[in-house]
Formats: sequence, C-alpha cells, structure tokens
Amino acid sequence: MEYRRLGNAGLKVSALSFGSWVTFSNQVDTKNAKEMMAYAYDHGVNFFDNAEVYAAGESEKIMGDCIQQLGWGRDTYIVSSKVFWGGKLPTQMGLSRKHIFDACHAALKRLKVDYLDLYFCHRPDPDTPNEEIVWAMNDLMRQGKILYWGTSEWPSNVLINAFETADKLHLTRPTMEQPEYNMFERKKVEEDFSYLYNEFGLGTTIWSPLASGILTGKYEKGIPEKSRANLPGYEWMKERFQSAEGRSKIEKAAKLNIVAKELGVSLSQMSIAWCLKNPNVSTVILGASRMEQLQENMKSLDVLPRLTKDVMKKISEIID
Ligand code: NDP
Repeated sequence: MEYRRLGNAGLKVSALSFGSWVTFSNQVDTKNAKEMMAYAYDHGVNFFDNAEVYAAGESEKIMGDCIQQLGWGRDTYIVSSKVFWGGKLPTQMGLSRKHIFDACHAALKRLKVDYLDLYFCHRPDPDTPNEEIVWAMNDLMRQGKILYWGTSEWPSNVLINAFETADKLHLTRPTMEQPEYNMFERKKVEEDFSYLYNEFGLGTTIWSPLASGILTGKYEKGIPEKSRANLPGYEWMKERFQSAEGRSKIEKAAKLNIVAKELGVSLSQMSIAWCLKNPNVSTVILGASRMEQLQENMKSLDVLPRLTKDVMKKISEIID
C-alpha cells in the first residue's frame, strides 16, 4: 500500500480507501462487510468512509459493529462521517450548528467510537453562514470529537470563503474535500481546485472512481440484474445510465476496455489507477458490493507504473 498525506495535514491516508455508500445494508450485510473490511485493512487500507445519510444510519451501524468485532486498535484506522441529510425535519438537515453537533453525536454512537478522524460537510448549505460552520467544526475539534474537518462537493468559491473565514477567526481551516473524480468527471479536481492545493494545501478523498460501475465495462450489454442501477430506490441512477449522456459514457468505457486489455489489466483497475496518477488525489475511495470486486480493485496500485505517457494519451483521446 502507498500512503499519502491528506493535503498539508500530518495524517497519512492509504492511497486506496473503502466506502459504504449504496452497498452496506442494501447489498452487503454485516458478515460480508466484516470480511471486506478485514481484507482491505489486511492489505493496508487505513481509511473507511461513511455518512449519516448512508442507508439512513444503518451503514454506520454496520461499520461500527464490524470495527468492534474486528477489534482493531483505535490508533490503526481512520473513520469518517458526513453531515447534511439526517432526517426530514428542519433541525435534522443542513449545516446549522445544531445539526452539525447532533449528527456528530449520532455518528459517534453508531460507529461506536470516541472520535471521528474526518468529519465532512456533505454539501454546501446556503442557509448557514460559513462563520457558524467553521465555529461548530472547531468546537467539535476542541471537544475531541473530531480530528479534521472538511467538505464534500463544495464549489471552490465557497470553499475559499471557508478558508478565509477560518483565518479571520483564527480557527482551523478545512483539511480536505470529497469530490467526485473519475475519467468522466474531471473539472473540479483538475481545474477548479488547483488554486486550493497550492494556496491552502487542500487534500482530497475522491469518490466514485468507477462512475458507479460504468468504468468496469459491465453496462455495455444492458443493466446487469445484480448491480446498483437495479436496486429499488436507485431508479434515478438507471435513468441516468440510459440517458444519452449515460450511453455515451458506456460507449467510451467499451473503447477504454480495449486499452485495458492491451495492458493486461481490467478496466476497473486501469480506471482506479488513472485516478491515483493525479498527485492531488490523497485517496481513492473504493466501493464494492462483493469481495471479488474489492480484491480486483485493490490490485490497481500495481497498474500505476503501466500508465505511461503513451497510455495516458490513448486514454485522453477517448475521454476528452
Ligand atoms: P465506484 O464508482 O467505484 O462504484 C462502486 C460500485 O461499482 C460497486 O459497488 C459495484 O456496484 C461496482 N463495482 C466496483 N468494482 C467492480 C468490479 N471490479 N467489477 C464489477 N463491478 C464493480 O464507487 P462508489 O460510487 O461506490 O463510491 C465510493 C465511495 O465514495 C462510497 O462508498 C462513499 O464512501 C463515497 N461517496 C461519497 C459521495 C459524496 O457525496 N461525498 C458520493 C458517492 C460516494 P454493483 O455491484 O452494485 O454494480
């Protein structure tokens, strides 16, 4: 495993990490989650990603049970939660100081830990001033309930304001952002944030490296029965995959598959390695509904040296 600094923080995260969106509770029970988490950890993964909204809290409960049963030392792993969608009531959503505190306490209970290593604001909240958010995060840090705070899918201008607000108040800045990044979703990580890496030392924990499975090539012949796009409640994803944009991505994935075959690797492995090639990516969060997927994807680091200039050029010609 390779370990990368989370931006300019001292914390070193494994270049590959493991998350639970869609999978835990919907596709993966505690027994299978435990097996996958143990496999990841035994192969050097030290960061496990979660959020209050994943399976309405069930995902955190499963992860907490697994961590407890596996008996890992608290100083050997990093666990996250994210706050934004905690329920339907006005007090249960967004980034008010109240919801940030309530969500943190609930996540600590479900994950069965005394502190969260990383705590993310899952989306920007136009109804809450950045001063309130920065203070709430800093107070949780002072109480020892979180170690690092960050954001997810915040536009760069709002993020810059958060940095400046923290500086103005002499408080701790956000350490990391969690943006989507894959061969089809590049602008934010490659363009919008470039100022933030240099100026503020922003770290990134990137999500959906396989564009929810399209970059495995398995959607070429329609939607496989056992895939997230066929799960109840994920009809929106199926529609997205079947839209003109979705079909164009699936066609590009078929072309990318040929490049992967020439390299002697799977498209998933090549796609994950492509994300790792970007030095501003601190960690690529993997998702897997089955152990075989995780085992295949964990080999992506070995593919990195094969992504030569020529190969990267071939990939660019397909995706640009
Ligand atoms: P991916 O884009 O890598 O999609 C993972 C899914 O693709 C798997 O669950 C599986 O779905 C399919 N898959 C993965 N590997 C293979 C393989 N080798 N062969 C065939 N199918 C495969 O990542 P996710 O979208 O899951 O995102 C990763 C993590 O990022 C999440 O768990 C979460 O922690 C985080 N995240 C954060 C978000 C945010 O807003 N901050 C948003 C989304 C994710 P299936 O078997 O069902 O087809």
